[in-house]
Amino acid sequence: MNTLSSPATVAQDATHVFHRQLRHGLPVAVSGQGMTLTDASGKTYLDACGGAAVSCLGHGHPEVRAAMHAQIDRLTYAHTSFFTTGVAEELADLLIDTAPAGMSHVYFVSGGSEAVEAALKMARQYFVEIGQPQRRHFIARRQSYHGNTLGALAVGGNAWRREQFQPLLIDVTHVAPCYEYRDRRADESAEQYGQRLVAELSEAIERLGPQNVMAFVAETVGGATAGVLTAVPGYFKGVRELCDRHGILLILDEVMCGMGRTGTLHACEQEGVVPDLMTIAKGLGGGYQPIGAVLAQGRVVGAFRQGSGLFQHGHTYLGHAVACAAALAVQRVIQRDGLLAQVRERGAALQALLQQAFAGHPQVGDIRGRGLFWGLELVAERGSKRWFDPALRLHARVKSEAMAGGLMVYPMGGTVDGRCGDHILLAPPFIASEADLGEIVERLRAALDRAVAGCG
Ligand code: PLP
Repeated sequence: MNTLSSPATVAQDATHVFHRQLRHGLPVAVSGQGMTLTDASGKTYLDACGGAAVSCLGHGHPEVRAAMHAQIDRLTYAHTSFFTTGVAEELADLLIDTAPAGMSHVYFVSGGSEAVEAALKMARQYFVEIGQPQRRHFIARRQSYHGNTLGALAVGGNAWRREQFQPLLIDVTHVAPCYEYRDRRADESAEQYGQRLVAELSEAIERLGPQNVMAFVAETVGGATAGVLTAVPGYFKGVRELCDRHGILLILDEVMCGMGRTGTLHACEQEGVVPDLMTIAKGLGGGYQPIGAVLAQGRVVGAFRQGSGLFQHGHTYLGHAVACAAALAVQRVIQRDGLLAQVRERGAALQALLQQAFAGHPQVGDIRGRGLFWGLELVAERGSKRWFDPALRLHARVKSEAMAGGLMVYPMGGTVDGRCGDHILLAPPFIASEADLGEIVERLRAALDRAVAGCG
């Protein structure tokens, strides 16, 4: 494709890029500013999902661009087996200063899946270091997403994504996620439901033998599989106690829900628990550069120090200087501009707008979220909570109707009996104004209605 004369849309038979979707053309994005992206025809799209919950500062932020330019002028790349860099050290300091208690070190990678892979291997090597090499099982949750690389896919619980790769995946035990809308029984309180889930986890641990389990892996707030799945009160405290009782590590995946998205820097702050390892990515660099990280507890790092002294893992671009500079700038702007408080305040406004627009909508079964992280669960019938026939691909129709109407929302769907159903995720940049949020909800309502009408 000639980039100097970009068409507005690239047709599927006119591209050499191996796009994920091979049957559809895509608009060509040419610029981004604040809340909007613009394509080659000049059409603008209001970004209500930050791509995949990434663009926390919106697009083209001048200070982040300046920080990246300055870093590019100084130093772009120094391999981490030869050097550290000032900018990686500063970013790690900032992340540890603001991390949950006991976190002492940051392992930088280039994205979410890499962070999850590193955390899984860190957990395994930790037990080798402390003389418990028999621990070889991970327990994770159904209806979860931890990335698309093989380890991350193995702990992930999205049936549709795993299906064809199953023969390549390590054996992971999956337990139920916290999915109140569908799974809490009428005769139990939210707390009792949480206790039932913890009991299920406990049974899984007993079945495997507590001495054989390395870690329990969970998204603190579920994101990319079933809309936004928030935990009921007490659930994560129960999980933490159980892990402590058996010497099992708790790995919280905050790649999507972390770095301010839910209104606190880390979503686990709202659960009152501290994980042993925590993965972060998307909002860390806000999309300005690919970057992710694992935050590790001092005692985990200590075991490596006192043991072999080497984490047997690594990638070429760990702690990339420009990526660290971008992330450092993003995090400093968030701190300086008080954007976490803004996420809480605008989040409440978004919640109210969503309730107003969709509480009575026949195809919206549930509206759930925290901060600026919201999901709509779409149903064919509210009473029975029956999902649409997955062949209709309602979520994808909503996405394309929204794009036609100049709005980006993040769809997910598929499977159904193995669970997932149609969901729409909203994760607007923290800089969204109340007027932006009103516009987002209005355009989404119109897109949903057109998409449902298209299902016949
Ligand atoms: N973990 C969670 C919770 C995610 O939501 C994602 C991506 O959506 C990942 C891991 C994988 O991140 P990446 O796509 O950057 O590899």
